[in-house]
Amino acid sequence: MRWLRLALDVVQNRLGGVPRPRWCTYLVTFRCNARCGMCDSWRMKPGSELTPEQAAGVFGKVAPLDVVRLTGGEPFLRDDFAELAGAVERAASPAVVHITSNGSFPERVSVLVKQFPAPAKLRFMISVDGMPQEHDANRGADVTFALVEETVRRLVEMRRTHGLAVSVNHTIISARSLEDHVEVCRRFEPLGVDVHAVLAYADSAMYGLKRFGKKATDLIVPAGYPLHPDLAGSDVAGLVRRLLHANERMRDPVLRLGKRYYLRGLLNRLRSRSDNLPGASGSSASAERGDSPPHHRPSPRCVALRSHLRLLPDGSVPVCQFNTERVGNLHRQSFEEVWHNPAAKASRDWVDACPGCWAECEVMPNALFTGDLLFPA
Ligand code: SF4
Ligand code: SF4
Repeated sequence: MRWLRLALDVVQNRLGGVPRPRWCTYLVTFRCNARCGMCDSWRMKPGSELTPEQAAGVFGKVAPLDVVRLTGGEPFLRDDFAELAGAVERAASPAVVHITSNGSFPERVSVLVKQFPAPAKLRFMISVDGMPQEHDANRGADVTFALVEETVRRLVEMRRTHGLAVSVNHTIISARSLEDHVEVCRRFEPLGVDVHAVLAYADSAMYGLKRFGKKATDLIVPAGYPLHPDLAGSDVAGLVRRLLHANERMRDPVLRLGKRYYLRGLLNRLRSRSDNLPGASGSSASAERGDSPPHHRPSPRCVALRSHLRLLPDGSVPVCQFNTERVGNLHRQSFEEVWHNPAAKASRDWVDACPGCWAECEVMPNALFTGDLLFPA
């Protein structure tokens, strides 16, 4: 049934229709106990957060879903996160519940797994910025590498007993962070945990005080990649080539397939850059999407506000990671009122004209729900 629904959604997305959402990225809180330099989440006003009962009401409106991604801020800062995650699972019946965390609450992670109604659906992604010195310097005293290791170790133990999956995501934030990647992989290898990597963007859109609530068009480039300035001069393309090579040894076949797709697109975009400075190549988001040049492939059609729904802590619905204008609020309004109102339609027109970003959290739903992951256009 899920596969049939996926096939129908792929057709609708490819034809520019408006399917119901199947993948929801839910920011359960903006609060964070880390103090990362490249993210303002911990500086933002937290605003209101849906209670587990309210979240169940929202997910009941959009169910059934295939994937729910629970993220923050730091989700485990919420005392009620285990209850919230269980309520979402029961209301939406997804096949996968993906949880991203900075790994600073090992005890709460254990409690969630033990309480969760369907632990085999859980896929944890724990983030690091490098080896202990680099990681701790960026994240601050409450989010240490030692805590991350403890969290991952506990999840590995529960992987056997509860059937969950766990991986580590290394955000490459600086030249030092890049140099650390091999050591980070070695550190988690004895635990049998895949480590993957993403390149830090020049700035944060969803979590940027300057950009929240607006269109971050300066970060959307039709060619190239808006690399973080601290990576200027680093051999990022060389790193991505090595990552592509190492990717074939990933244990998790789903992760391997998705990462291969993402890394190929990243390498093509990096090749088109004349240097590693933000905005050095490409033009702004006002450019129309057309036939993609080779350096901009793959370039799946974007499924934001179609198969991919983003949900903010208060139940409001932004367009995407780079356009946080809201089209409605699923706590206060019905699904039909949010999904088919004039603001949502105008935002979809904007999405259709967008030249495309290469943020992994947007690329994956785009690749899956257009079929581009298996059958590239
Ligand atoms: S990058 Fe993640 S861990 Fe760091 S402040 Fe932002 S939400 Fe918190
Ligand atoms: S490709 Fe989609 S997710 Fe990325 S910036 Fe454009 S509209 Fe947003």
